[in-house]
Amino acid sequence: MTQEDERWMHEAIAIARSKGSDPSTSPLGCVIVLDGKVIAGERNQTKELPDATAHAEMMAIRRACESTGELELRGATLYSTLQPCGMCTMASIWSKVGRVVYGAGRDDVHEMYFEAQHVDTLTFIGDAYRDDIVIEGGCLRDDCAKLYYGPDAELPVDEQANL
Ligand SMILES: [Zn+2]
Repeated sequence: MTQEDERWMHEAIAIARSKGSDPSTSPLGCVIVLDGKVIAGERNQTKELPDATAHAEMMAIRRACESTGELELRGATLYSTLQPCGMCTMASIWSKVGRVVYGAGRDDVHEMYFEAQHVDTLTFIGDAYRDDIVIEGGCLRDDCAKLYYGPDAELPVDEQANL
């Protein structure tokens, strides 16, 4: 993890914070960087659109492909404030980003943020489908974790998205 990584993660955090500071709004931010430039920066838009697949990473991959006119994002790095879910990890693989860097991981936030309780889909998918994608977590971990409900937050069941 480099200072350059932290710089881009700060941008992803700023995009996440553009939704405000309430964790219930799913403030996830993502930027995709290619050759030292941001080619896409998006936030989670599932409720706004509404679209269950409109995670920050999915939206950023769509914008990055549009802005480059390319189907493949080889050499690009995707920065996400939270460990990507299985869908977004798979989308990273299909879009051929070279590297995924995330901030907070599974253990840093409430379990509601992840689709499976017992399987870490990011590791599973990353290992299963490509061995040339680099996936690294913990970039500005504490700053990113602050955006979300903590592991021990007591939440009413109807506010827990995936349970
Ligand atoms: Zn996702």
